[in-house]
Amino acid sequence: MSHGTGWRQRAACIGIDPRAFFPIGHHARAQVNAARRICAACPVRQQCAAFAIETGERNGIWGGMTQQQLRQRRRRFTSRAKTSTRAAS
Ligand code: SF4
Repeated sequence: MSHGTGWRQRAACIGIDPRAFFPIGHHARAQVNAARRICAACPVRQQCAAFAIETGERNGIWGGMTQQQLRQRRRRFTSRAKTSTRAAS
């Protein structure tokens, strides 16, 4: 991932090959686990996960979450947003 500005400058993955967070192939499970170990120590996990959910990232490990976990969070986020929109109108 790019580490341009803001929270990204404090990311634990700075200097790590971004491909480590986009697992593919036969070793994908091991890559996912390795990426999640890095994320576990990251001080900006929450910001990273929120960014991925809000921008609809469809690939990679973000905030220590797999794509399946991100999809579940995104669904909850979307359904909460719809509920609050309805409540406000
Ligand atoms: S949570 Fe993981 S992918 Fe996100 S910035 Fe931190 S180390 Fe990088």
